[in-house]
Amino acid sequence: MTSVAQRYASVRQQVDACCLANGRNPEEVTLIAVSKTVGTPEVADAMAAGADSFGENRPDQILLKSAAFPEANWHFIGNIQSRRIEDIVSCASLIHSVCKTEHFAKIDRAAKRLGKVQRILLEVNVSGEESKSGFSPDEVKDALLAADPYENLVVEGFMTMAPRGSREVACETFAGLAGVRDAARQIELPRQGKLALHELSMGMSEDWQEAIAQGATMVRIGRAVFSEEQF
Ligand SMILES: *Cc1c(COP(=O)(O)O)cnc(C)c1O
Repeated sequence: MTSVAQRYASVRQQVDACCLANGRNPEEVTLIAVSKTVGTPEVADAMAAGADSFGENRPDQILLKSAAFPEANWHFIGNIQSRRIEDIVSCASLIHSVCKTEHFAKIDRAAKRLGKVQRILLEVNVSGEESKSGFSPDEVKDALLAADPYENLVVEGFMTMAPRGSREVACETFAGLAGVRDAARQIELPRQGKLALHELSMGMSEDWQEAIAQGATMVRIGRAVFSEEQF
């Protein structure tokens, strides 16, 4: 048996090594420990090993764990229901999974009420799998135009999930998201002009190496940190 702290430290080391092998600075890649399957003791164990960023996909869980560990950065990576937006905005440092233009106004309003500017990513369904949510790459420009007027939200980049099972397809998916980002950076928005769109949130336990090779700035890793599974 290995401990959560040992596995977190090992994954962070592997991420750093992978960055160096790809000519990237390890400081450019945030390791988000996806704690959705565990409780607060395991989060504390990961923090003891240096973890400072966690991902959750349920509003109740991000509320509970962020209240227990307010010093960490809490990332919302799950399905967004309108009626939970206020809760999510109250505790998320970054929302990765925005995929409906109707949600921009609600996020903006909640952020304004809380006196914050909410950082968000647009989720993009690069692979086109029916089971996946996200804007299609064709819809990204209109989504950025729709978000542009809102002063209490800022789009910082994009998130995607690769189909499971093939490293080659994962590579293509991640390269596709980097392409979406490069194209989006050229768009001149009426209010904000060109956006930096710095963040690419891509890569999970089975495919984060491919994601780093394609430019990920955030990898979302759950099982490799919090389960006994080997990757
Ligand atoms: C669960 C989840 C992850 C982590 O997946 P693992 O395979 O456990 O690393 C990453 N991103 C999202 C959106 C998730 O729901």
